[in-house]
Order: sequence, then structure tokens, then C-alpha cells
Amino acid sequence: MARDLPVRQFRKPVGLIKQENGRLDPALLRAIKPFGHLYKPAAASWQAMKQAAKKDGVILKPTSAFDAYRPYTIQRSVFMQRYTAEHIEGASVRTFEGRLYYLKRGLAPLASPGTSNHGWGCAVDIWGVTAEGRLEWLLANYERFGWSHELQSEPWHIRYNLGDDLPLGVV
Ligand SMILES: [Zn+2]
Repeated sequence: MARDLPVRQFRKPVGLIKQENGRLDPALLRAIKPFGHLYKPAAASWQAMKQAAKKDGVILKPTSAFDAYRPYTIQRSVFMQRYTAEHIEGASVRTFEGRLYYLKRGLAPLASPGTSNHGWGCAVDIWGVTAEGRLEWLLANYERFGWSHELQSEPWHIRYNLGDDLPLGVV
């Protein structure tokens, strides 16, 4: 799928400055539909965006409950399933706790524990993003809700860039 995704600079919410990635105060999070949690402004925007998509016949949801806000313990356990400290020639690498980790063959890359935007409650992995017009709908609409992509290589992964602010028309 050769397509240019808009990748914007992440604006970390001021409300999260004293927080630790993946260990957010639950009072800062809000449940989203159909499952999962996000940092409150991102959650409000998500709900509005999801409704707008639904009006256009497009269903938006995370791939699983932990593919929105992802607690540190979950990020760590998935990371340990996908990466190994044993050297793998040519593998993609991550640094975690001062060591190099190698991505096992055939598995999707993941941010090191403590560094993912999922841990800030500001990212969602979109279920079936390349099917049923979802990506096309997002590209046409998500920026007005404050979302963009983080990496060209991960079309399913979108993140909220308005920090503590809400998009116009969302309360
Ligand atoms: Zn993601």
C-alpha cells in the first residue's frame, strides 16, 4: 500500500507532565466505545470522530481494549513476546533497560515499554484499517478531530495531537 500518511509532531498533553507512561492516574482516563480507555480530551475527540464515521457508514474501533490506552505491564509483556535479547542478524532493534532487544521474525514492531503513545492514552490502533474504506475515511477526516499518523509503516496506528485541547465543535 503505497500511500503518504500525514505524520505530525506529537504534542504531549500538559496534564500528563507529572504522569508516568503506562501508569496514568485513572482519573485522567475515560472509557471509549466499544472498549478501551483514552486520556480524556483524546477520548472526547474519539467519540465524536467515531460518530461522524458511523454517519458515513464507517465503523471505527480499536483492535483490542489495550490498543487504545495500554498500561505499562501490558506493553512490557507484549514487548517480551515479540523481542529477544539474543542477537538476530538484520532484525529491527529496540533499547530497553539499557539492553538491545531484537524483533523476532514475522512479528510486528512495538515501542519499548515506557515510550509508547499508547502509554499516554493518546494512540489507537484501528481495527481492520485497510478494509471497508476506513483508512480513506480517516485520511479525509481525522485531522479535523486532531488525529494523525505516527509512522508511515503503521497505517493502523493513529494518535491524538491536540494535547489538552479539543477539536472545534467537540465538548
Ligand atoms: Zn499503536
